Amino acid sequence: LSKIAVIGCGVTGAAAAYKLSMYDDEIVIIEKENDVADGTTKANSAIIHAGYDPEPGTLMAKLNVEGTRQAEEICRKLDVPYRRTGSYVLAFSAEEEKVLERLLSNAEANGVPGAEIITGEEARRREPALSEDVKAALWAQSAGIINPWEYCIAMAETAVRNGAELMLDTEVTGIERLEKGFRIKTSKGDVTADYVINAAGVDSGRIHEMAAPKTFNIVPTKGEYYVFDKEEGDRVGAVIFQCPTSRGKGVLVSPTVDGNLIVGPNAVPCDADDLSVTASGLSEIRAAGAKSVPGVNYGAAIRNFAGVRANSDAGDFIISMACPGFLDLAGICSPGLSSAPAIADMAIELLEKDGLVHKKKENAVDSRRKIRFREMGFKEREELVKSDPAYGRVICRCETVTEGEIRDALESPIPARTLDGVKRRCGTGMGRCQGGFCGPRIVEILAEKYGVGEDMIEKDRTGSRILTGETKGGSVK
Ligand SMILES: Cc1cc2nc3c(=O)[nH]c(=O)nc-3n(C[C@H](O)[C@H](O)[C@H](O)COP(=O)(O)OP(=O)(O)OC[C@H]3O[C@@H](n4cnc5c(N)ncnc54)[C@H](O)[C@@H]3O)c2cc1C
Repeated sequence: LSKIAVIGCGVTGAAAAYKLSMYDDEIVIIEKENDVADGTTKANSAIIHAGYDPEPGTLMAKLNVEGTRQAEEICRKLDVPYRRTGSYVLAFSAEEEKVLERLLSNAEANGVPGAEIITGEEARRREPALSEDVKAALWAQSAGIINPWEYCIAMAETAVRNGAELMLDTEVTGIERLEKGFRIKTSKGDVTADYVINAAGVDSGRIHEMAAPKTFNIVPTKGEYYVFDKEEGDRVGAVIFQCPTSRGKGVLVSPTVDGNLIVGPNAVPCDADDLSVTASGLSEIRAAGAKSVPGVNYGAAIRNFAGVRANSDAGDFIISMACPGFLDLAGICSPGLSSAPAIADMAIELLEKDGLVHKKKENAVDSRRKIRFREMGFKEREELVKSDPAYGRVICRCETVTEGEIRDALESPIPARTLDGVKRRCGTGMGRCQGGFCGPRIVEILAEKYGVGEDMIEKDRTGSRILTGETKGGSVK
């Protein structure tokens, strides 16, 4: 049996581990944060792109279209929220109409199904909130929206259920090449492996250089967003893009799978760990968003966030053997979320070419089911509450998430350990009050489960404690 170490558990590492877990390899996933899906995978536009943006002939083009083709089936098997909405790219001038022609010819060359250019009037007939200034639009029926962290968690959970070992809170600090295989130095001791997969996102350049000479630079590039209350959720029915520029795909207006609306992102070079949201970034997004969809009510914004793209100077995904036994899945910028399953297939092909011999397991798990109380009918709810009264206690009132679902998140194959870990598994705190109501109760449940004081519970990454001490310190008699 070969042992394969996957460094990083965002959607790229999770997809690789998921697909490899169908074989008889020994897999260890090494992740520096205290949860999976805690890097770029949790902060992006959540679009499964159709695949007309990448230049024909690139890895991005091939893997985007194939990844998007696979997404619907994986989401069905692993019970991940996904909706095929289709997308529009808007043209506001004759010059931009030429860009649509170029994107349409990319679509044809890349094998994107169901793409066509329509008039501005037709676009407004289908999407009445679009600006009067829209002259034409490229429609692509295969684009969709997804819950990006659930996609990653579902694939990572399935890998774990198939026997993969997950090391959380474990940072890779060095890699030594052995006569056969590698010694990976981590904050929790050494791990040896026959093969290494570098899926470390914005840190993939640093991990590459631990095993091989430098061949590319990662250029971290931030994107900021507005998230809106559900009252804005129906403003548009599909993903609305503008024409891409040298800075990327531009600002989009899109529904989310949870029924909200998002507007963003911009593209600003930044430090790899810069998740700040700035007033200037937000005003840029508002102006750009209003050009496509003028009527969005910014008074209904409930949150802002930022994510960092692992852009690189290679101009394409970097998917190749850096040295025998060491595979880079590096510089996985957008459309990395859409491409993840196809990147994983290519990873397996490259490892096999490099000498990996393995065979498919007969009894691998490839399905997952979750209880989602808010989506159930009255009868179904009644049965569920009878079977366990914890499903009858609604903890998150905005999103109708019950104590039973929170407890499921704590008992899942990769149990939630933090407030945001619970949020990523069952959607608590995603609504209008942003966790103001349910947060304290979830902290109590987490503290009880892990047998620690409430002041030890973290919001998200290690060190993000929520409570620092008692406010009144017991001094008031
Ligand atoms: C603003 C923005 C919008 C985007 N929109 C879309 C979109 O709509 N559609 C789309 O397809 N793509 C989109 N993307 C791209 C997509 O989000 C990424 O391609 C994808 O999430 C990358 O996943 P990853 O697993 O490679 O990286 P990450 O999710 O960042 O995972 C890397 C993991 O490696 C871990 N790690 C790093 N260093 C170490 C170490 N030393 N030891 C152990 N672990 C380590 C990190 O903690 C992290 O968990 C967008 C990206 C951004 C930023």
